[in-house]
Amino acid sequence: MKTTMQRREWLLGTGALGLWGLGGCASTAGGMVPARTRVLVVGGGYGGATAAKYVRLFSDQKIEVVLVEPNEAFVSCPISNLVIGGHKTITDVTTRYDSLANNHGVRIVKDMVASIDVAKKVAVLASGPTIAYDKLILSPGIDLMFDGVQGLRAAQAEGRILQAWKAGAETVALRRQLEAMPDGGTYAITIPEAPYRCPPGPYERACQVASYFKVAKPRGKVLILDANPDVTSKGPLFKKVWAEQYAGMVEYRGQHKAVAVDARTNSVKFEVQDDVKADVLNVLPPMRAGAIAVQTGLANANARWCNVNYLNFESTAAKDIHVLGDSIQIAPGMPKSGHMANSHAKVAAAAIVAELAGWEINAAPMLTNTCYSFVDGKNVIHVASVHEYVAAEKTFKTVAGSGGVSAAPTELEGNYAWNWARTIWADALA
Ligand SMILES: Cc1cc2nc3c(=O)[nH]c(=O)nc-3n(C[C@H](O)[C@H](O)[C@H](O)COP(=O)(O)OP(=O)(O)OC[C@H]3O[C@@H](n4cnc5c(N)ncnc54)[C@H](O)[C@@H]3O)c2cc1C
Repeated sequence: MKTTMQRREWLLGTGALGLWGLGGCASTAGGMVPARTRVLVVGGGYGGATAAKYVRLFSDQKIEVVLVEPNEAFVSCPISNLVIGGHKTITDVTTRYDSLANNHGVRIVKDMVASIDVAKKVAVLASGPTIAYDKLILSPGIDLMFDGVQGLRAAQAEGRILQAWKAGAETVALRRQLEAMPDGGTYAITIPEAPYRCPPGPYERACQVASYFKVAKPRGKVLILDANPDVTSKGPLFKKVWAEQYAGMVEYRGQHKAVAVDARTNSVKFEVQDDVKADVLNVLPPMRAGAIAVQTGLANANARWCNVNYLNFESTAAKDIHVLGDSIQIAPGMPKSGHMANSHAKVAAAAIVAELAGWEINAAPMLTNTCYSFVDGKNVIHVASVHEYVAAEKTFKTVAGSGGVSAAPTELEGNYAWNWARTIWADALA
């Protein structure tokens, strides 16, 4: 185990981290991937972990990749709703970062990036040391805008009203709240206006809670209080499941924009509708790009999301910083999903390696997406799409006729969903 001082010396002392980036990348004459070039990746989630691995793969391990991530291990949001439903444990959705280091030579630094000096191309870690870069990949996920719902920040800090919208300890804590709830009690989830992380996620969660109640608390009630006028993803499928599989248990109410909570009375206030009281409140506030992106001045779309050049995911606000995943301003029809973040990462990694090597970048990238939702412990519905870059409009558009949605929940799709999860975890981390 390195002491803090030893670690600081390692970070500053190796030619690796102290000097290479500041020196800029080596010559790209002859179109070779330049050695002694560093790509710094901030955030080891769906976007960042995938990008770190693929920069190494696409550069034949020549480009140095440093990944800064504060968490010991990757905890997947996809499938985490099953932990809340009691069908899986948090260990089932957790993967260590070791293989990224051992199999691909990614240097992993367990820390937070506290600030980025865009002009000097240097990131400052929360623990003090700096890391220089030639290219920076930022995939910090989302920042929950607690101040968008009065009283929520304090209620969250006290552990009374949780979100569990970043999988981990809160996922387990929300499950415990449900276990402690009396039979006949109410669980209520509030959903912010789109765009937010994972459009079908809140509806899947409602199904998971209902599947638990059906077995353990049959008189329990699930209330879905949505700021949007209607279900934002797989609407007809979810509504059918609520009406048939969870009849009398799940109730959906649109046009319910939460504006305040009162943790003493466990109630939520809405912009227009009457207050709602529940035994377990799961209030999702509005969301924006991860804090480090906002703080670096990259959130130039409505002061919430980061505009990027969709050909290489470079920020339109800062050269050589590429933003991926949930933090970006989405193109039409593009969800904020783990699958999409993984897709962004591959396009960006290929473009970054090409730019550093002096090659032309792919002028026609494609992205894919599939979001599976478990409506109970086994049965699943999906929505899928393919997105192509449209040069004339400088954006991605859904390919006509691609993708689609399930006809109905099935166990076969449950198998597909599990295989999707195992495959994407291996793709990003193994
Ligand atoms: C309940 C739920 C269910 C979901 N289900 C699905 C699904 O079925 N399919 C699907 O495709 N998507 C799903 N999603 C969405 C998916 O989780 C996100 O879209 C995806 O995680 C986005 O990837 P990302 O890289 O942008 O962010 P993340 O995966 O959240 O990664 C961000 C990482 O950055 C790190 N970080 C943040 N700031 C810093 C910093 N300053 N320094 C260093 N590190 C930092 C964080 O610790 C984190 O590890 C679901 C989400 C939820 C909440």
